[in-house]
Amino acid sequence: MNTIPPLDLTEQYRSIEADVSAAVNEVLASGRYINGPIVDEFAGAFGDYVGTGECVACNSGTDALYLALRALAIGPGDEVVTSPFTFIATAEVISAVGATPVFVDIDPATFNLDLDHLAAAITPRTKAIMPVHLFGRPVDMDQVMAIAQRQGVPVIEDCAQATGAMWGDRKVGAIGHIGCFSFFPTKNLGACGDGGALTTNDPDVAATCRMLREHGSRVRYFHEAIGVNSRLDAVQAAILQIKLRHLDGWNAGRQQVADRYGELLANIPGVVAPTAPAQGRSVWNQYTVRLEAVATKGGEWRDRVRQHLADQGVSSMVYYPLPLHRQPVYADLNYSEGSLPQSELVAQQVLSLPMFPELTAEAQERVVYALKDALTSVQ
Ligand SMILES: *Cc1c(COP(=O)(O)O)cnc(C)c1O
Repeated sequence: MNTIPPLDLTEQYRSIEADVSAAVNEVLASGRYINGPIVDEFAGAFGDYVGTGECVACNSGTDALYLALRALAIGPGDEVVTSPFTFIATAEVISAVGATPVFVDIDPATFNLDLDHLAAAITPRTKAIMPVHLFGRPVDMDQVMAIAQRQGVPVIEDCAQATGAMWGDRKVGAIGHIGCFSFFPTKNLGACGDGGALTTNDPDVAATCRMLREHGSRVRYFHEAIGVNSRLDAVQAAILQIKLRHLDGWNAGRQQVADRYGELLANIPGVVAPTAPAQGRSVWNQYTVRLEAVATKGGEWRDRVRQHLADQGVSSMVYYPLPLHRQPVYADLNYSEGSLPQSELVAQQVLSLPMFPELTAEAQERVVYALKDALTSVQ
């Protein structure tokens, strides 16, 4: 029995192999491996896709977030409000610039920031709000922007898992002050290595980020700030430019997979399937269900369910098993157990099922059959 992987990048690669090979070979033959026209071309195309006037390509999504914070001059003594239920990079960069992450609990129905709690977390020290469009599902950006504007703080969107997602008729990354994207291979628009970009309509922010990503220099060998080396490789830009043309099609494929899961999972007691956003669209970087019985059976029961699935040839993943406010690295922030109860419960309940555009209906039926079986047979 073949195992259904959490995602399979090889099939997608095969479908564009000829174009990618040609583009990569062109870069290799050009001798221009750092910067050069292909990087600018891709950045321009990506900014157009997101719908912002500016796009700065860089080395990773983490760096995009870091550059965004630096461009807004956020540092020691400042606070940035964000979600504890996300990948570490979101908070890590806040700490990296010397500021303090302030975690707000999530809404289990969306896995995103609970906007009823957001306003209360803002203090005079808050210098930015960093919503995370987790699993490809857009945060309600109307509400976020209303709160941000009332409080006079900028919004940095963590769009790492949500390339192409929309709130209303706008793409995420074009709604807040700055949008930060990752091209890590497992993201919706993935490179064949690391890569990232930030989008903004603020030319000063874009210029500052370009300066910072280039060792703090605007003019070569003249340095005005302590920057970093964070450029997007020309080879990756060439690959991303080709893949960008397919992104909407692949995201539509993910939507189809999500719809099929929704049908298959309907009326299975104890499994809470993810829902579509009230408006706009999710791009389903993950399809993540919640197992309600964890509340009574405990977190180890989920591990046994996962083992049962694995025995049936079904991969599953847990994003994320420990919310950031309870991570050892943030022990000094003194968030006690139970301080953000929804995040803590959800972290124990979540199970991400295989999700990629090429996933077949047959494979999905096998996934759901195995899950159903696990719910009744795993003690
Ligand atoms: C992947 C990811 C990042 C970091 O992106 P990298 O390109 O891996 O550095 C940041 N935030 C979230 C939510 C992510 O999923």
